[in-house]
Amino acid sequence: MSISTSDKPYKERIIDAESDKFMRAAVAKAQDAQFIKRTASRRELGNWNEWRDLAEQIRQHVLKYLPDYLEEFADNVEQQGGHVFFAKDENEAHNFIKELAIAKKAKNIVKSKSMVTTEINLDKTLKSIPGVNLLESDLAEFILQEDNWDEPTHIVFPTLHKNRDQIQEEFQKLGYDGDNDPQHEARFVRGYLRRFFMKADFGITGCNFAIANNGMINLDTNEGNADITMAIPKTQVVVMGMERIVPSMKEAEVLDNMLARSAVGQKLTTYCTFTGKKKDGELDGPDDFWVVIVDDGRSKALGTEFEPILQCIRCGACMNVCPVYRQVGGKGYGSIYPGPLGEVLSPILGGYEHFKDLPYACSLCAACTETCPVKIPLQHLIREHRIVEMDDKHLDHSMTNLILKMVGVGTDSPFLFGSAMKMAHPGTKLFNEGGPNSVEPMYDGGKIDYVPKAVPKLIHGWIDTRDVPRPVKAKENFRHWYKHHQPVDAAPAVKKEEGQADE
Ligand code: SF4
Repeated sequence: MSISTSDKPYKERIIDAESDKFMRAAVAKAQDAQFIKRTASRRELGNWNEWRDLAEQIRQHVLKYLPDYLEEFADNVEQQGGHVFFAKDENEAHNFIKELAIAKKAKNIVKSKSMVTTEINLDKTLKSIPGVNLLESDLAEFILQEDNWDEPTHIVFPTLHKNRDQIQEEFQKLGYDGDNDPQHEARFVRGYLRRFFMKADFGITGCNFAIANNGMINLDTNEGNADITMAIPKTQVVVMGMERIVPSMKEAEVLDNMLARSAVGQKLTTYCTFTGKKKDGELDGPDDFWVVIVDDGRSKALGTEFEPILQCIRCGACMNVCPVYRQVGGKGYGSIYPGPLGEVLSPILGGYEHFKDLPYACSLCAACTETCPVKIPLQHLIREHRIVEMDDKHLDHSMTNLILKMVGVGTDSPFLFGSAMKMAHPGTKLFNEGGPNSVEPMYDGGKIDYVPKAVPKLIHGWIDTRDVPRPVKAKENFRHWYKHHQPVDAAPAVKKEEGQADE
């Protein structure tokens, strides 16, 4: 799976997502639960906005000096006996790791969850090596792998769309004969993974942050699987996006704090590990240590208006507040990076032609920008994409263009605008079913499941799922009020109460 998760057209994906009631309920529940946890953990830290300012500065500073920090990091890894490979794209990255696995005669490869390895399609590449077993050791990724590499729904909670019965079914294929209790299912997987870990000879992890001044890798997990992946196999490959670098441990400490609080509402993740090549005399860790630093289109954003998206620390908080993500879940976006992050990043990494609809999957409400721990101006970047699509790429958004042109003509003419205002109240009767003394109880969920034939097909998609609030009558609107109220030159004198003293 590369960055694109689906060949289906955008509209079909949205229709599929909209009909998946379980997924939508699960996403809504997760968003609400995360809101409470995230708010509490940010409050507990105190001065959240000052921390955000600092985190933003750190990320901007790193991007400004990115080549220098990458060089410093690579030098430090090599000084400790490790190796660094710079991959310019997906093919270079997965081919290099595949050749390394073949050269090392790897038989059992264990991986821990990593977005960038999904981005470069690593799992399928490694599976194509004859005689190689590959196992994802993160519980959610393991479930997706067993379900024939099902698409993830979220960057932090990839299996939000699956219930306990579906998971039980997948595990039964591996010999599980227990019930659908999540604890029993998790215990079964623990045993299954442990057996594989003990014989793993090649380990692959991602990287939350790479420390430039000591060449170490920082990993934040809650399951501990990344730590075992680093400890047992003799050959270790860390795959990282080229922007995931910090100058020193001090900056990693700040960003770990922001990441854990924003991603899962914890002070820190259960395991916060700093690691690298095994040193002389140490028992655990890899003898052979490689870091693959992946560009894969990131450098296209450097020095452009889209550079701030490279500040991202992959916490997923923006999807946890997004009203569009709440309705369509991760699969609706067709990218491994869904939500506001994906709306900005996917067209950069995967191209406008493939992801041209994503910048329009946004109401520009700015909830994402407000929650982002590193202050990425997400809704501005989404709007920038729309401008590029319209003005530079001339992509086909003909219907949007037509509607905007009509709105432009209408709002430019006082006559047309005034007439539209007069028609607004009677006209929206077609789309509105609620209001005081409504007949809501007569319909399922309070919504009438019928759209008059007179309504153009074009707007069914909108009014099928929501009510349009009815504007006030023309005689009660602001324009009418303003026309009949003359400016008052001076405020009327206030009548003094009896016995009241002069000011
Ligand atoms: S854009 Fe901001 S909120 Fe969204 S995943 Fe990245 S850091 Fe988190």
